[in-house]
Amino acid sequence: MTYFLHAPIDGFRMALSLPAGEPRLFAFHKGNLVLDASGNVPTRTEAEAAGLEIDGMAPLGTLEGRPCVVAYLTPTRALPDGWSAKSLRFLFGALDVGVLSVAAVGSQVAHFMSTNKRCGTCGEPTVASEKERSVRCATCERDIYPAVSPCVIVLIHDGPRILLTRQPRFPRGLYGLVAGFVEAGESLETCARREIAEEVGIEIADLEYVASQPWPFPSQLMVGMTARYASGEIVVDTTELEDARWFDVGALPMIPPPFSIARHLIDRFMASYNERK
Ligand SMILES: [Zn+2]
Repeated sequence: MTYFLHAPIDGFRMALSLPAGEPRLFAFHKGNLVLDASGNVPTRTEAEAAGLEIDGMAPLGTLEGRPCVVAYLTPTRALPDGWSAKSLRFLFGALDVGVLSVAAVGSQVAHFMSTNKRCGTCGEPTVASEKERSVRCATCERDIYPAVSPCVIVLIHDGPRILLTRQPRFPRGLYGLVAGFVEAGESLETCARREIAEEVGIEIADLEYVASQPWPFPSQLMVGMTARYASGEIVVDTTELEDARWFDVGALPMIPPPFSIARHLIDRFMASYNERK
């Protein structure tokens, strides 16, 4: 199984009414998952016993039939002694894939809950719906749903070469793919062409959708595409990128880790290139 990608999470069902039983508690502090002193996701009873102070909680769903709840803590809260809050990025490999995937869903729900306690229009407190994942402002008669931000990511190929880019915030030596957020009024295709033109200044053809991946930092939906190079010389947008260049598939630099959609696109291209060779 690839993290977050393509398939529904094995054994997980999103639900607003939960079966009886001791729930697992997916609590988030500044966007990071709260773990007990042993590095595990606690049960609600364990969290209460340890004195974890929660500011909002909601049903999340069931994993293998077992109830899961989601919660958030305001940033000023201190965690119980020995407990920690870790970014999901650093928990790949450390937590069970199913638990981590549910945590990724919980992270987006916790972000939604903690940022929509009040109506953005009138400022009155909102109330969570019991029927669906939304909150309602009674004053404005407005329902508010979790916002997902689409972000296009494109592998551009030219024969045996692929175009990789480096952002200043990347770990040393790491290269990724052209990517950017969809702006208001844009289609995915328009966004892809604009980002490519802005970041590297080239023209592309044969833009194709490959796969998507929810990316909970805090709530992107990554839309993975491939495109064939058509024309133009690379002109690096130095306000966003440190470098952009063609790499031969036989001599790639450090690339994103296996759980990322960037890596999925690169691995997929390599496999099809090697098959054609
Ligand atoms: Zn309102």
